[in-house]
Amino acid sequence: MKILVIGSGGREHALVWKLAQSPHATRMWCAPGNAGIAQERLAKNGAAVQCVNLGAEDLPRLLAFAQEQRIEFTVVGPDNPLALGIVDLFQQHGLKIWGVNQQAAQFESSKVFSQQFMEKYGIPTAAAGTFNDVAAAKKFCATLGGQCVVKADGLALGKGVLICANQAEAERAVDDIMVTKAFGAAGARVVIQEFLEGMEVSLHALCDGTTAKMFPTSQDHKRALDGDLGLNTGGMGTYSPTPFLTEAQLAEAARKILDPFMCGCAEERIDYRGLLYPGIMLTKAGPKVLEFNARFGDPETQVYLTRLESDLLELLQASADGTLGRMELRWSPSASVCVVMASGGYPGNYPKGKVITGLDAANALPDTKVFHAGTASQEGRIVTNGGRVLGVTALGRDLKTAQAAAYAGVSAVHFDGAHFRRDIAAKG
Ligand code: AMP
Repeated sequence: MKILVIGSGGREHALVWKLAQSPHATRMWCAPGNAGIAQERLAKNGAAVQCVNLGAEDLPRLLAFAQEQRIEFTVVGPDNPLALGIVDLFQQHGLKIWGVNQQAAQFESSKVFSQQFMEKYGIPTAAAGTFNDVAAAKKFCATLGGQCVVKADGLALGKGVLICANQAEAERAVDDIMVTKAFGAAGARVVIQEFLEGMEVSLHALCDGTTAKMFPTSQDHKRALDGDLGLNTGGMGTYSPTPFLTEAQLAEAARKILDPFMCGCAEERIDYRGLLYPGIMLTKAGPKVLEFNARFGDPETQVYLTRLESDLLELLQASADGTLGRMELRWSPSASVCVVMASGGYPGNYPKGKVITGLDAANALPDTKVFHAGTASQEGRIVTNGGRVLGVTALGRDLKTAQAAAYAGVSAVHFDGAHFRRDIAAKG
């Protein structure tokens, strides 16, 4: 089968790496990909994965490429092409593609849509209001004593969420989003949620329109610095499983979140085929959904796919075909830890083009895989090309072993200014 993967980050490297292991994969392209993706080979025939220089949001050219190459299955990594309707477009042209359609992508592209859906279908979430009026928004913040989270409605590169400790901060947040338009058009409306306390975990479920299959738990580390200090980032590391949810609690979360989610989708005629990734706060009153994402998490994917024993290509096809009910998701009992190595300065300004060494040595360590995120090839060398550069991922019989292995991998890799957290998986 000829496969096209869309995206260029660590998530997409993990997707390509796992899909390349499928005996059904005979040729694979990635648009636009990165230097690590270009080194992958297919298990079936040793064919190299080819990176093609097409942007993940360039829908017309991606469609033309898929038609020219007679791609049989396209897998979409990032949220933007999904929100732009790539799935609908490919399907209109008779091409098979995995990911949510534009209507289903609203769960991620509109926080107002998600919040209203959760309230309508009884999915546990924070007490909240949605507003397009500044004065009403500020008044609602006051009813929460100013301790609230103000969220821009639309996609804002993960930055449109402002956590406020008091009314003055809340009013400033409302002004920033709605008046100054710090996040552009994304801030025309806001969701204001009560501030929830607890431990945060990521859930992932693969859906096929009627069935949702839950993954094990994982935990991301959003802040740039050890001890959850510093600025918010795209994610500095993950591990799976987390000890915070027992199997029974995970099943309960599935019942309280996924069941009403799928019922609500049926009611609203939303055909949800793809990945559902709810961000959850484990509060004293049980798990509550903070937000929905409509694609694989990054770097959650790196720890999930290193633990997944089933054929990912078969699973994604079943998700697209509506036959997931017959499939089994098999997971390694091993723990997985992914430590992100970022460019110095990230999430602020950072340099590019720093030469990376030690990648082969790290990949040669047992049960270790270095996923590339922001890398490029330059005159035969691999150089940094983004904020998050690598995701050094390792399996171990328990979390401590996996953590030690991941950090051994990190020690083998070098580039100028490399920055990483030293406490990934410490909470676990
Ligand atoms: P979101 O993009 O909505 O998941 O928000 C980004 C981050 O803000 C989350 O990962 C949480 O750490 C935090 N956050 C969002 N909503 C809340 C809330 N209601 N209470 C506490 N923290 C929150």
